[in-house]
Amino acid sequence: MSRKKEEAVVVEPKMAEPTNHSDPYTSMLSRFYAAAERLNLSPDEIEILSKPAEIHIAYLPVAMDDGRVRVFESYRIIHSRALGPGKGGIRYAPEVNMREVMALAAWMTWKCAVVNIPYGGAKGGITCEPKRMSLGELERLTRAYTRAMAQVFGPDKDIPAPDMGTSAREMAWIVDEYSRLNQGNYIPAVVTGKPLELGGSRGRVEATGRGVTMVILQALQRMGKRVEGLTAAVQGFGNVGSITARYLSQNGIRVVAISDKSGGFYNENGILIHQAIQYRDSHGGSLEGFKGGERITNAELLTLPVDILVPAALEDQITPANAPQIKAWLIAEGANGPTTAEADPILNDKGIMVIPDILANAGGVIVSYYEWVQNRRGHYYSESEVQERADNTIKQAFDDVFTRAAAQKISLREAAYLIAVERVVRALRMHGKY
Ligand code: NAD
Repeated sequence: MSRKKEEAVVVEPKMAEPTNHSDPYTSMLSRFYAAAERLNLSPDEIEILSKPAEIHIAYLPVAMDDGRVRVFESYRIIHSRALGPGKGGIRYAPEVNMREVMALAAWMTWKCAVVNIPYGGAKGGITCEPKRMSLGELERLTRAYTRAMAQVFGPDKDIPAPDMGTSAREMAWIVDEYSRLNQGNYIPAVVTGKPLELGGSRGRVEATGRGVTMVILQALQRMGKRVEGLTAAVQGFGNVGSITARYLSQNGIRVVAISDKSGGFYNENGILIHQAIQYRDSHGGSLEGFKGGERITNAELLTLPVDILVPAALEDQITPANAPQIKAWLIAEGANGPTTAEADPILNDKGIMVIPDILANAGGVIVSYYEWVQNRRGHYYSESEVQERADNTIKQAFDDVFTRAAAQKISLREAAYLIAVERVVRALRMHGKY
C-alpha cells in the first residue's frame, strides 16, 4: 500500500503545534509513547506512527441561502494505512481544528487494530455550525467537500463515515457526488453509515451504542457483578449517548442522568429514555425544555454518585480538575478522547475501571466494516446476523484486552494500546523500509 506522499498538502509545521497541554493529540501521543516504550519500538517506528501519514486541507466556497459565499475550512487526515485503507468519520462542528482531527485519525488506527479489522485510521472535519445551516447549505457544503477530497477518498484508499454533526444523510450526498465524479459508476463502498436504501447496513445506526453496552455487560461479567440495582449517567444524547442509554435501560441498568449541549437532567428513579429520545426528535435535536428530570449541569453529571459513567459527547471532559470527584467505579468511553492523559493515573489510583474509547466505541466501525464487505459482495445480512457478528467481535476484543491487562497488571487502556500498536507495527514491518 503506497503512502501517496505526492498527494499530501504540505503544511507549515507550526500549524500543528499543540495549543495547550491537554490537547487531544498530546493525549493520544502520551498513550502511544508509553506503549511504544513497553514494546521496544525502534525510533523510526515511533517517528512514523507519531505523525499523520497525510494531511489534506481544503477551503470550500459555498453559496449560502442569503446569496453570499462563505468559505469553510475542512480537513481529511490519514494517520496510517499500515493495516488497510484509511477509515474514520467526518465531524461537522464549530470547534473542529487540525490537532483534533489529527488525534481522531490516530485513534481510528488504534481502534481498528484493537478490534482486529483490516483498516488504517483517518478522520475528516469541517469547521461549521450544522444546526445553523439550512438543508441546502449543508448539501452544497458536503458536495464541495467530496469534490475537494475526491482523490483522497476511495473504497481501497480512504472510507469516510458519520461522526459528530453528520449522519446517513450526509453519507448519501457523498456517495452520490463521488459516484458522479466516477462517470456515474455507483460506488457505495466509498463511504459507510449510508441509508439502507443506498447500500447501508442493517444495525449500523445502533452499532456504536450497542457496542458500548456490550463492553459494559462484559466488564460486569468479568468482574462478577450483577446488573440488578446498578445506575448510570450518560453525557451526550446524540447517536452514541442516546442509543447507549436506551440499551443500558433495556438491559436493566437504571439511567439516572442524561445530558446534551443544552445541559443535563437527573431523575433518581431513572430517566424514561424513549421519552427523552422522542422529545429530542421533536425539538430540533435538543433536550432543552425536557421535563423528565431535574436540571443539572454537564459538570455535575460527571461526578454523580452512580455506578457507571458513559461520557459520549466530546473530548477532554474528564481532567485532573474533576477526576478526583468522580464516584462511578466503571467508565465506558463512548466519545473519543473524553479523558485527558493527565487524568488517567488519578482514575487508576482510585481503582476506577476505564474501558477506553478505542475499544468501547468500536462497535460503529465494526459494523461499518460489515457494510463495506456487503457493498463489495452485493449480498446483505439480516439485522440479527450483523448484531451477532458485531457483538462477538467486540466481546472478543474486550476479553483480549481484559486478559492482557490482568496478566501485565496494567489498565485496560494500556493493554488496549499495547495490542493495537503491536498489530500496526507488525504490519508496518512487513511493508518494508521506506
Ligand atoms: P452526535 O452529533 O450524534 O451527538 C453529540 C452529542 O453531544 C449531542 O447530544 C450534543 O448535544 C452533545 N454535546 C455537544 N457538545 C456538548 C457539550 N459541550 N457538553 C455536553 N454535550 C455536548 O455525535 P455522536 O455520533 O453521538 O458522537 C459523540 C462522540 O462519540 C464523539 O466523540 C464521536 O467521535 C464518538 N463516536 C461516534 C461514533 C458514531 O458511530 N457516531 C462512533 C465512535 C465514536
